[in-house]
Amino acid sequence: MRATMMDVPLTVAQILERAGRLFPDTEIVSRRPDKSIHRYRHAELHGRALALAAALQKAGVKQGEPVATLMWNHAVHLEAYFGIPCAGGVLHTLNLRLHPNDLVYIVDHAGPRTLIIDDVLLPLLAEFRDRVRLDRVIVVNWGKGALPEGAVDYEDFIAAGAAGYVPPELDETDAAGLCYTSGTTGKPKGVVYSHRAIVLHSLAISLPDVLSISHRSAVMPVVPMFHANAWGEPFACAMMGAKQVFPGAHLDAVNLLDLWNDEGVTLVSGVPTVWLAVVRALDENPGRWPRVKGLRALIGGAAAPEGLLRALIKHGIDPAHGWGMTEITPVGAIHSFKRKLDTLPPDARIAHLAKQGLPLPLVETRVVNDSGEAPWDGASVGELQVRGPFVAARYHNQPDSGDRWTSDGWFKTGDVVAMDADGYIKLSDRTKDLIKSGGEWISSVELENAIMGHPAVAEAAVIAVAHPRWDERPLAAVALKPGNSLSLEDLRAYLAPHFAKWWLPDAIAIVDQIPRTSTGKFQKSVLRERFKDWTWDIPTR
Ligand code: AMP
Repeated sequence: MRATMMDVPLTVAQILERAGRLFPDTEIVSRRPDKSIHRYRHAELHGRALALAAALQKAGVKQGEPVATLMWNHAVHLEAYFGIPCAGGVLHTLNLRLHPNDLVYIVDHAGPRTLIIDDVLLPLLAEFRDRVRLDRVIVVNWGKGALPEGAVDYEDFIAAGAAGYVPPELDETDAAGLCYTSGTTGKPKGVVYSHRAIVLHSLAISLPDVLSISHRSAVMPVVPMFHANAWGEPFACAMMGAKQVFPGAHLDAVNLLDLWNDEGVTLVSGVPTVWLAVVRALDENPGRWPRVKGLRALIGGAAAPEGLLRALIKHGIDPAHGWGMTEITPVGAIHSFKRKLDTLPPDARIAHLAKQGLPLPLVETRVVNDSGEAPWDGASVGELQVRGPFVAARYHNQPDSGDRWTSDGWFKTGDVVAMDADGYIKLSDRTKDLIKSGGEWISSVELENAIMGHPAVAEAAVIAVAHPRWDERPLAAVALKPGNSLSLEDLRAYLAPHFAKWWLPDAIAIVDQIPRTSTGKFQKSVLRERFKDWTWDIPTR
């Protein structure tokens, strides 16, 4: 017997169509660069996204072609989220926090010919424009300033496409999105999302036990739209008809809280750094944001410390801890309490909430260590491996990265976890040595390689050390050549031309030699243990 169901492809175009048809009145609110509020409704989002799609088609963008964006979180970026895939193109978000050298590498590797960019980011583009091949630069001209030579105004560009949209024949396995993630070996790797993956991920994160996104929700992703598709929320919210509120470039806690309060925001997602700043602002301004009580706070990207969870609860905010990866579209697990845990005493409840949560529907998990598959007993640790229809099966054009997948088709996350008998994941470490500062990655390998080029340095290892504001900051352990000295200032000055400022180590520890494993590799675990209680000189607030 064969199934008698229709074989209709799952596409991003369907999400946009539903948003426009069923929820035309849903508001989209954004802060402009000058802090004023931009507000429109799904009806306009729908029309303008299709006008962008039509204009891209007219400009000759082919099916499967990446179209890059370099933008903050706002309504026009949301138009690109839909307009580019609806044209058959691939939404290729560029991370504006990367060093121009990395942006050059990524643009060169992915090969977009078109870039849509905020006017306020033109100075960043100017730093690498002559090193990349871009045929068309479209500027979202918030400030109504003069455009660089050859650039097109976004409004003029989409006006040329108005009402001319010809829906391309989309297959659900076609590419719709492209994000680059930092790898252990240093160079960023491309993850290409299919239409199908985005649709299934949107459904999965909207479920009541996950983020419970509905047409009654008002959602703000503080997590950038240039990092893992803002955890997939812009797609899910449009699908469900939820209001979306975007902070633009204004990410300080007071601005965020003002927007949440004024716009009745019900769900906010961000890395722990964001939430730590929010707690401080709430502490310092009691009673200023009454509507924020009851807000759901999704904390992910790095582990949510118990103290943070406790502080949020004290302020009437309802924290949810989540785990994800760019390779998983990106949400893999969200914490929610099973009914049997309702009787946990308050402290045990907080400790439980510090677990990364239950795998989403359609995300299969297993824990693997040297003895094979580990039991789900809450104690046996091993690498978390995942499989599912929104988990990457490979990287884009990266033949040497096959070791991230097992021969039987599971993705090796590089995260070391224990799973308990109820299926909750507890992450204990990362197998990789990357440093996660304020939600963004710093490659320890790249820094080490550069430091070891310094004439005074014999060997160096860079490790992540816990930091109260940024989650982690880099500390450089350095063994010097005999008779030499090196200060932190000298080291930073030496590295500055090659790295973004926030990548530079914030501490230097002079050691006799870098500890090694039996195979001669640097043993960073020993360094991490030695420096785990490091006291930072840099400001922690
Ligand atoms: P990215 O691909 O940049 O989103 O980074 C994914 C990595 O972030 C994961 O492999 C984890 O190491 C880390 N991560 C994400 N969420 C959490 C969390 N809730 N707790 C601890 N680490 C996390």
